[in-house]
Amino acid sequence: MENSKKPTLSQQALGPLLQSPSNTDPIIDHIKAAVDNAIVLNEKKRERRKYIGASSIGDECQRKIQYRYLNYPIDPDKEFSAKTLRIFQFGHNIEDYAAKWIKDAGFDLRTEDKQGEQFGFAIADGEIRGHIDGVICDGPVAMGYPSLWENKSANDKKFQAFVRMGVAKANPTYATQIALYQTYMDLTENPALFTVVNKNTSEIYYELVPYNAPLAQEASDRAVNILTATKAGDILPRIAQTKDFFLCKFCEYRETCWEK
Ligand code: SF4
Repeated sequence: MENSKKPTLSQQALGPLLQSPSNTDPIIDHIKAAVDNAIVLNEKKRERRKYIGASSIGDECQRKIQYRYLNYPIDPDKEFSAKTLRIFQFGHNIEDYAAKWIKDAGFDLRTEDKQGEQFGFAIADGEIRGHIDGVICDGPVAMGYPSLWENKSANDKKFQAFVRMGVAKANPTYATQIALYQTYMDLTENPALFTVVNKNTSEIYYELVPYNAPLAQEASDRAVNILTATKAGDILPRIAQTKDFFLCKFCEYRETCWEK
């Protein structure tokens, strides 16, 4: 007769099986370190911008924009980790997917010129530049064409903020970027299509953003102000009275800014 008593394994015997191998093998740690180091190293090799990017003109602190323009070194404790850089890279890839989904739906979305370069503009002798995600020239939906297309990706919390408030309130920096792109790409007649892909759920948020001329003007004036101050050798005022101001806490130049 078959012995019905099943063998049992003690917790102690199961111990090594229950542990994740990645937690125990030192070789895994070396692999992780090699991958992370390569990502950080590649970021350090990347050529820095020598202009004011339209994507940053809407930042609340003019001094921060100026630091970026002047390529001030980021505080060591604020340098991007390999994980953060991977998040950025995923974001770029998500944009390619978003473009494909829109094109597959029958929209004539142009994201590159004939040379395979992103469309963009340069003003003030190239000191202010922007590169757009695309232009929608036609499509199966009755809307105004051509329309600027600007895409972002966001975690669920930020995504929900766009759904609740729209881009102007959820992220004024993005709203400024859109207004500037519309101005300098001569795409002011029709609302821009702003899309956000949720990195947690893959939902897409769509918003038609009408041209906001005063916002674009204010941003252009701001950029000129930064260039003028820089040429004069001035550093623009801080946005706050103390380094404990909430925006400063997250600023990559906090130490530089408050030490000098
Ligand atoms: S630390 Fe504060 S004041 Fe200084 S650049 Fe950053 S945000 Fe502006």
